[in-house]
Amino acid sequence: MSMAIFQHVVTAPFARAVRFRTLTVACSTVTLPSLKKKAEASSKVDLQSQVLLGMSEQELQQLAVDFGQERYRGKQLHHLLYKRKVKEIQDFSQVPLAFRNELQEAGWRVGRSPVYKNVTASDGTIKLLIKLEDNRLVETVGIPVEDDKGSVRLTACVSSQVGCPLRCSFCATGKGGFARNLKRHEIVEQVLAIEDVFKHRVTNVVFMGMGEPMLNLKEVLEAHRCLNKDIQIGQRMITISTVGVPNTIKKLASHKLQSTLAISLHAPNQKLRESIVPSAKSYPLEAIMKDCRDYFLETSRRVSFEYTLLAGVNDTIEHALELAELLHEWGRSYHVNLIPFNPVEGSDYQRPYKKSTLAFAAALESRKITVSVRQTRGLDASAACGQLRNQFQKSPLLTGAEDQQSNSEIAVSC
Ligand code: SF4
Repeated sequence: MSMAIFQHVVTAPFARAVRFRTLTVACSTVTLPSLKKKAEASSKVDLQSQVLLGMSEQELQQLAVDFGQERYRGKQLHHLLYKRKVKEIQDFSQVPLAFRNELQEAGWRVGRSPVYKNVTASDGTIKLLIKLEDNRLVETVGIPVEDDKGSVRLTACVSSQVGCPLRCSFCATGKGGFARNLKRHEIVEQVLAIEDVFKHRVTNVVFMGMGEPMLNLKEVLEAHRCLNKDIQIGQRMITISTVGVPNTIKKLASHKLQSTLAISLHAPNQKLRESIVPSAKSYPLEAIMKDCRDYFLETSRRVSFEYTLLAGVNDTIEHALELAELLHEWGRSYHVNLIPFNPVEGSDYQRPYKKSTLAFAAALESRKITVSVRQTRGLDASAACGQLRNQFQKSPLLTGAEDQQSNSEIAVSC
């Protein structure tokens, strides 16, 4: 799921320039289950094997034992990876050189990737492009917020896929095509890269960067475990955002995480929603709302709804009242995050006037729905999710014939 430096949205005019061309699937025929299979198939290239980052303490202890070491060496690896945040095996100075060499000779690596591009906005938001092992680029964003007492909350907005197959109409990531799912370490390393660049601990993580987390739920859950248990970010400080993929909210609920589920709704009725989020055809609004109610019953965690306000499309008082009615029909304790659309060149959508945003919020509040209006961060730093990556991914970063092949096999393009 994406967002514009916190706006889970965007638009940009580059999609066609991106290199995904060979296999074209008409938007109208793309179903969520077929996209899920494609996303899973794309992960078959095993980029995760022999990567230390993302492994639990227990797994690292077992690894040490497998190499003929004492178990406590695994504990040391854990400390070096997650407390000292060391990036290269050869820099694990507490670990005997012979063990380090053996790990490397067996093909093990830490799993940290270089930052390819770093853009800072005037409000302090920093967007990073991380260059993955297969030369693909993924975006991650760090958003610092200082409270009245001067303490800083640093939120990392992480990506779960390279690109996204869902093609929401306002989103630059969707327009830029889809390459593959991220592995758990590729999600975790985004948080560590944000910490590096800010020299500050990440306090909150939102899965609202490139991609739809529910199409990559296994790796997202593993990354969530690592962020919580190994990097020590509280579950309540983590938000997983989705436009909705059938059967996955139930699956997520079964893990009983104490994290927030955020549904990217963007419309109060099915017809309008389908025009904004094409994948909504496979998952009717009523079914999503029922799954959200069940999620709350199962986890006692409030579900929040993201609503991108698009001027003249979904931002009238009538839409707000319809939304309030929908939420009341399906439960209590719902919260709505309003996100005024973040305009970018080439977009058909317009940012709403401030007065219509405030009127929309007031209409929801008059129906006793709690609302927040998200401040758009990083407007001057290619803020929209996918925008920065699309600027650079169209340059020929991939060089190997194999990569070209895998790209063309999985790309979905309209
Ligand atoms: S196209 Fe994908 S990344 Fe963009 S808003 Fe939709 S689900 Fe999120």
